[in-house]
Amino acid sequence: MEFETVIGLEIHAQMKTKSKIFCGCSTEFGAPANTHTCPVCLGMPGSLPVLNRQVVENAIKLALAADFTINTRNQFARKNYFYPDLPKGYQISQFELPIAEHGRMEIEVEGAKKTIGITRAHMEEDAGKLIHDDVEPESYVDLNRTGTPLLEIVSEPDLRSPEEAVAYLKKLHAIVRYLDISDGNMQEGSFRCDANISLRPVGREKFGTRTELKNMNSFKNVQLALEYEERRQRDVLLDGGEIIQQTLLWNPDKMRTESMRGKEEAHDYRYFPDPDLVPVEIDQAWIGAVKKSLPELPDARKQRFIDTLQLPEYDATILTASRELADYFEASLADYGQAKKLSNFIGTELLREFTPERLCDCPVKPGQLAKLLSMVEEGAISGKIAKTVFADMLETGNDPEAIVKDKGLVQMSDEGELATLVQGIIEANPEQVQQFRDGKTKVIGFFVGQLMQKTKGKANPQMANKLFQDALNK
Ligand code: ADP
Ligand code: MG
Ligand code: ZN
Repeated sequence: MEFETVIGLEIHAQMKTKSKIFCGCSTEFGAPANTHTCPVCLGMPGSLPVLNRQVVENAIKLALAADFTINTRNQFARKNYFYPDLPKGYQISQFELPIAEHGRMEIEVEGAKKTIGITRAHMEEDAGKLIHDDVEPESYVDLNRTGTPLLEIVSEPDLRSPEEAVAYLKKLHAIVRYLDISDGNMQEGSFRCDANISLRPVGREKFGTRTELKNMNSFKNVQLALEYEERRQRDVLLDGGEIIQQTLLWNPDKMRTESMRGKEEAHDYRYFPDPDLVPVEIDQAWIGAVKKSLPELPDARKQRFIDTLQLPEYDATILTASRELADYFEASLADYGQAKKLSNFIGTELLREFTPERLCDCPVKPGQLAKLLSMVEEGAISGKIAKTVFADMLETGNDPEAIVKDKGLVQMSDEGELATLVQGIIEANPEQVQQFRDGKTKVIGFFVGQLMQKTKGKANPQMANKLFQDALNK
């Protein structure tokens, strides 16, 4: 029996704002516990929330970028539940009237394009954090995170494989970072996702029973957890069993999902409109102003790279995977000018060391890379030496000229000097000379290799080739 996989994602993106969603406390990560708190985010009786305008603006940005319909009148609601990291006993979220609905986004998996529906996006506040003691049966609570603004983005169950789910997640991650509304840091939990997954027999319309996977803090974990759960559900169904609707935790060390809670414990949140907050009214002028302020988004930037820089689609896709990388590329291009050569070097040398999201850790500045490649263009160093110099730049952050000078890596382009070495190599290898004269012209590679060894890779390769050709054909 063949099964089809059905996946829908709920993503929480922590918004990048200076202060929390309903009070003036700082949202900065890593401060000593409970220092970024006030009566509002501590949930003290009598305190009142005041909405942060920037949060609404960020939500509008996402709504415009992913083709949502904006509810110009939307409302906050109380989601009631008890948990020690939630001082008020309810979370302020949105329920019946979220800020945005019916969005969509195009993804691409192995060359196939597909549009994924996005049910809704709403604003809400985050809860605090419990810290469990390793030894004692005690827990602590840090409320610095309570009231941090979140955008929850819920997809339609339109995804059909773990690959599609990861492609969707990556695309949304890129978009929030292009928009600069979230830093997207998955390790720090500012971009996290719960995945709902079910299987149904191919051809059947009705969805199967789903499970929900929590605790996935990297693209790789999302992929692995979904693959695992896909296999597990298939085995259960093939065995004639039934899927139990439950919440599962992905355990990356044991590489398996573990039950967190069953459906019988499912919450009844008793949502109701928050009486402390008036409905949010958004006028068209505000939407228009935000629209004008939107940066170029990944798809548009990719198309521009293809159209105006004549880059292959493959290169353009990689270079626009993150805003940092695309910015880095363009900054370097401004000083160097050769798009395809630059793309090749970035694709092989730079992205071997840094993911597109972590380019900020790269000590080589775009201008320094441009300088390095210009030196190759001018014949000062060979392409091969450039890679060595680049490795040095990554380690030291030094300028390429300084490294080339210090290490004596300047390309040997003195014809007289090289000709003498060429003559010596020819005399020392009569066997290969004979082979060349017998028509095995490929041995030219051997000769050039010898010269490279002697010059520690510094001989100008075009010149070396020509000198051997001339000498051997004499
Ligand atoms: P809840 O609020 O209980 O989490 P929702 O209806 O809001 O439930 O759905 C949450 C997510 O689960 C959405 O992304 C949706 O697309 C997805 N989803 C719903 N039903 C299924 C299913 N049968 N299989 C896979 N995903 C599903
Ligand atoms: Mg859910
Ligand atoms: Zn506060």
